[in-house]
Amino acid sequence: MQIRFDAFAVLLVWVGLVIPCSGQPLPARNPEVEKIVQEISSQNIKQIIEKLVSFGTRHTLSETDAEGRGIGAARRWIKSELEKYSRESGGRLKVEFDSFIIDPKDIEPRYRSRVPKPTEIVNVVATLPGSRPDSAARIYVVSGHYDSMCTQMMDTKCNAPGADDDASGTAVSMELARVMSKYQFDATLVFLSVAGEEQGLIGSTHWARMAKEKNWNVAAMLNDDIVGNIQGGGEEINNQVVRVFSEGVPVNETEADKRLREAIGGEEDSPSRQLARYTEETAVKYVPDFKVMMVFRRDRYGRGGDHTAFNESGFAAVRFSELHEDFRHQHQTPRTEGGVQYGDLPEFVSPGYIAQVARLNAATLASLALGPVAPENVRFGSARQAYDTLIHWSANPGSNVAGYAVVWRDTTAPDWQHELYVGNVTEFTLKGLSKDNLIFGVRAVDKEGDLSPVTVPRPPSPQRGTPGR
Ligand SMILES: [Zn+2]
Repeated sequence: MQIRFDAFAVLLVWVGLVIPCSGQPLPARNPEVEKIVQEISSQNIKQIIEKLVSFGTRHTLSETDAEGRGIGAARRWIKSELEKYSRESGGRLKVEFDSFIIDPKDIEPRYRSRVPKPTEIVNVVATLPGSRPDSAARIYVVSGHYDSMCTQMMDTKCNAPGADDDASGTAVSMELARVMSKYQFDATLVFLSVAGEEQGLIGSTHWARMAKEKNWNVAAMLNDDIVGNIQGGGEEINNQVVRVFSEGVPVNETEADKRLREAIGGEEDSPSRQLARYTEETAVKYVPDFKVMMVFRRDRYGRGGDHTAFNESGFAAVRFSELHEDFRHQHQTPRTEGGVQYGDLPEFVSPGYIAQVARLNAATLASLALGPVAPENVRFGSARQAYDTLIHWSANPGSNVAGYAVVWRDTTAPDWQHELYVGNVTEFTLKGLSKDNLIFGVRAVDKEGDLSPVTVPRPPSPQRGTPGR
């Protein structure tokens, strides 16, 4: 199939009307995703945060047996709350503790002193099984960490309200569980609340490694950590933008991948980077009064989070964080000093803003889990010199796929600049567009208009490769 680059078709895509090569226009938005977005409640998020703060401290090494104080009481409440959501939605949401003992010798040396003796770490896991047999093995994860700390890392008794870090992200994960468990998705959703983040990503690393060992297909992970503050340390206020951090070169890149990248580029096209672009597009589509600021960096400068644990196990994962942080309200024992209130207190987070972050997470997760898998075996048709660009891919295994779109951008552009719906085909030639100068990708589209993330082509397979001209 050869079609000349069609500026009109591209325009149609940009105004939201995707017209297949034959047949009816595809819907631009899935009404089910719109409905899910509308059900996210800032009031519910506010209540979750206040309840989590009420446990005084959620330090990973704090007491576990007391009623109403410490990390044990906090995780028992999270579990019971998720079980309530499960009952309200007919019991399909499966809630359990993922409990294990971490031995200091198994912790990265630089964090080892933070867990001086073997300690029980408990993640709370709520799983909503996928409803389509051809997609249920595909898993999407949303996560927040429910542990907290105050100024002194090893002080397990001080009050550590952790309203922003990270009751806000835990509230996003829990609120999504509440709303989304009432719906059915093709793929499986996992709503995580993890512990031991402040001690070196212990809970998330355990779950991600377990998923890798079990060969689970974790297609994407969204980490919400510090998503509640709208006023920075200065006077600037912003409640309309969230940062999405994504790694460029995958942390688990192999030597062979490295050699290929050095030959053809691709530093800005890791699966995590495609996931970040997906969140940005999803905001435009479903939460138009809210914006993603993509940051092309694994995390904030020199800092880390639970998504990195997933990256290290080979999974695509990104981090959501508020645009403006206020360091007086993170990892600070509550106190007044020189007329300044320190401490990660609930009055410094905005439930309305967190609800917007949750809406974006919900729309992203729903679009991914209702949508088709990203195209596989995507390759260029010719290795080196060519005036046109032939791309081919394997037919998508899902029965709901309507077709495919080819996307492209300048090598220096952060976002896909062009999208062309090419119909239900498995190859396409872009006349007069060269892979020397552009980055290309392919995505699948289903009958409800849900898009898969983009897959970037690899070089031709040896069998199919044609010698360069
Ligand atoms: Zn955090």
